[in-house]
Amino acid sequence: METLRFGTRPRLGCATFPFCHSFASANSVPVPNVPFGTQGRETSSPLVRYAKLLKNMIKIEEISPPSYYSHYNKITYFNLNEKRTLWKTFTKCFYCQKNNRISNPSLFKQNAHAVSSYFNSNLYNYDECDECNKLFANKLETKFSLFFDPIKSFLFQNHKFKQQENFYYNKNGDVIIHPNFIKSIDQKNRIAHITIKRPAISILDIYCCLLKMGLSVFNRIQRKEVSKSLNLIALDFNYQNKLRHLNHFFLYGIYNENSTEDSIAIYKNTSKLNLPKYFIFIKHHRFYFQLFIPFINDDATFNILPPMTRIIGSETNFNSANFVSNFIEKGEINLALKATDKEKFENYIIKNNFKK
Ligand SMILES: [Zn+2]
Repeated sequence: METLRFGTRPRLGCATFPFCHSFASANSVPVPNVPFGTQGRETSSPLVRYAKLLKNMIKIEEISPPSYYSHYNKITYFNLNEKRTLWKTFTKCFYCQKNNRISNPSLFKQNAHAVSSYFNSNLYNYDECDECNKLFANKLETKFSLFFDPIKSFLFQNHKFKQQENFYYNKNGDVIIHPNFIKSIDQKNRIAHITIKRPAISILDIYCCLLKMGLSVFNRIQRKEVSKSLNLIALDFNYQNKLRHLNHFFLYGIYNENSTEDSIAIYKNTSKLNLPKYFIFIKHHRFYFQLFIPFINDDATFNILPPMTRIIGSETNFNSANFVSNFIEKGEINLALKATDKEKFENYIIKNNFKK
């Protein structure tokens, strides 16, 4: 097997998206799938089971955004492009509460991104141990990259992707790619057509990845309020199951084609109304993500309409509600890379027997 450097520039993206980024409007809220784990030994009829399920689910409504979101105040905000390390006075890992910088400095060697680097984030956590950092990167961020932007993840600097024996990564603009990913090569135009098998993606993992980013900027003094959420993002099976039954969701959409903002914010309910206490709002260029922090007051009324002008600063162009009980079926990601370096390209196709 021969793997070679491949001089490329990320701008070429003749890619097709077999992705189910459902552009469904918020009006067509899907009936949730029956979550895993309820089938087993149950003897009741499907109807009874479904009724039980509904009782556990969070109450979701469509409420006029101006009146609903007027009860919220922004309590935390960070521009993700500015380099900053958060929580420097905290030495114990916020997530696992197990490792401590003072007694185990060797477990805090990495610079842990508070918010995923997919959002051009320069925000780091001082109180995130290497074990937790690795767990979030491997179990959540990799899946998020396949959900959100496969091309970007493909070309992302220092992002390593491994699927069985096949791998690719990008080092200083050179894509190093295992020949098994190559579907065909257009020698004349120096274009490699690439196919990656995308595994089935659980929306729950994507939700947890977004929740992790929100919790990274959450006030450390109030850890107790989010302790269940912290168990969830540590992939505790019981909390994953609970969340699927409750059927929490995140909103994902486009708000302003011209925006270049990368930011994260937390908003808090300041009224006496029983609304979700906090929600997280992440902007990445024209995209936004919104989710309520779960397990605090799940008996509240959750609004499925995005905050729109009050918080985003413009109307939304499309919104999709993504429920944690749903899955995206496995499929293929197809893209094409144009090699800008003739010599590297020639070497690559000769050494991997692509030359005709
Ligand atoms: Zn930890």
